[in-house]
Amino acid sequence: MNRVDTRMPGAMFLECTATGEEFEPEQLMGLSPAGKPLFARYDLGAIRDGFTPAALAGRPPTLWRYREVLPVRDPGRCVSLGEGFTPLVESPRLARGMGVGRLWIKDEGQNPTGSFKDRGLCMAVSRAWELGAADLAIPSAGNAAGSAAAYGAAAGLPVHVVVPHDTPVPILAEIRALGADLQLLDGLISDCGAVVRERCDRDGWWDLSTLKEPYRVEGKKTMGYELYEQLDGRLPDAIVYPTGGGTGLIGMWKAFAEMEVLGWIGSARPRMFAVQSTGCAPMVRAWEEGREEAVPWEDAVTYAAGLRVPGAVGDFLILRALRESGGGAVAVPDAGMRRWVDTVGAATGIFAAPEGGATAAAVPRLREMGLIGAGDEVVLFNTGSGLKYVGMEPEGGRG
Ligand SMILES: *Cc1c(COP(=O)(O)O)cnc(C)c1O
Repeated sequence: MNRVDTRMPGAMFLECTATGEEFEPEQLMGLSPAGKPLFARYDLGAIRDGFTPAALAGRPPTLWRYREVLPVRDPGRCVSLGEGFTPLVESPRLARGMGVGRLWIKDEGQNPTGSFKDRGLCMAVSRAWELGAADLAIPSAGNAAGSAAAYGAAAGLPVHVVVPHDTPVPILAEIRALGADLQLLDGLISDCGAVVRERCDRDGWWDLSTLKEPYRVEGKKTMGYELYEQLDGRLPDAIVYPTGGGTGLIGMWKAFAEMEVLGWIGSARPRMFAVQSTGCAPMVRAWEEGREEAVPWEDAVTYAAGLRVPGAVGDFLILRALRESGGGAVAVPDAGMRRWVDTVGAATGIFAAPEGGATAAAVPRLREMGLIGAGDEVVLFNTGSGLKYVGMEPEGGRG
C-alpha cells in the first residue's frame, strides 16, 4: 500500500471501493487487486476554502470548471470538445401530467457526440494520455464507443472499438468517421469485453471499460455538481437515472459525498432511482430481492443500447446508493420507453434517446408505488440524443 502523504492542494490517491486499500495514483491502474473498481480520492480539506460555488462563476461552461476535483494534473492533457454543463430544462407541462411538484430534464443529448458518455471518456482518455497509454480500447453497446473514438482522435491516440453487430447505424458511422479501428461482434457487450481484455493482455491496449479504470466515473460525477449549480445551490428530491453500468449514478453519489465534505450541502440526499428495461433488469431484480450484488441477466434484449448491460462490475455501488438514498429501481418495457420519447418530445422539444424515455416512463410507476410524491422536485436524465437511434425500433414495434 502506497499512501500519498505529500498532500498538495487537490492531491489525489486511488482507493479500492471494496477494501479501502490505497494506491499511488501516477500509474495506469485498472481494477484493484481485489478485482473491484478504484475511486480517485482528493484532499478536499485542502481545497475547501478556494473551491466554492462562488469561485465557479465565470469559469467555462464545460465539466472542466470542476478541475479541483478532477484527476488530470497537466492542463495540456485536458482533452476537451465542449462536454458537460448541459441544459437543465424545466417542464411544467410534464410535471402537471405526471403529478409531481416540479420536473426538469437534464439534457445530456447536447454533449459533443450526443450522449453523456462524453463526460466519462473525455476524462479517461485525458488521464490515460497523461499517464502514457499508447493504444486505447473499448467494448461498448454503442455510445461509449463514439465518445472514445472522438476523444482518442482529439488526443491523437489510436482507439480500438469492439461493439455488438446490432449497434445503431448512426453510431457505427460516427466511429468510422472518427478514425477508430472498428470490430463488430455477434454477441453482447460482455462478449465484446472479453475480446478487448484479451488484446489488452496480449498487445498492451489500455482498457477503457466502464469502472474498470478509475476515471470515467470522475467525468460522470460532474453531473452531480452541475445539478447543484443549475438549481441555484440545492439538489432535487428525486433523480431518475437510466442504469446500465451505473457509472453516472455511482458518480453523482460520489459527487454528493464530496460536496458535503466541501461544505456545499448537508447530509440530506436526493432519492436515487435506477430505471432499466424489462428485457434486461439485473439491478431491478437485485433491488427487489434485497441483494447487495446482482446476478447477471440472461438473454438481455432491449433497443435502448445503453441499458443492454447484463452484469455490472459496480453493481454493489449502485445498489448501495439506491439503498442509502431511500430510492429504488424499476423496469419499464421498451414499448413504453418508445411512447414516452414522443410524449417528452411533444411536451418539451427534446428528442430523447430511448433511455431518456425510460426515465419518463418510470415516473408514473414510481408515483403509483408511492416512491415519488405529489410535491416532489424530480430530475430525469435524458442521457443521449434520439438522433443516434434513428432506424432502431423496439421489438414488436411501437406497442
Ligand atoms: C451508457 C448509457 C446509459 C447507461 O449509463 P451508465 O452510467 O453506464 O449506467 C444510459 N443511456 C445512454 C444513452 C447510454 O449511452
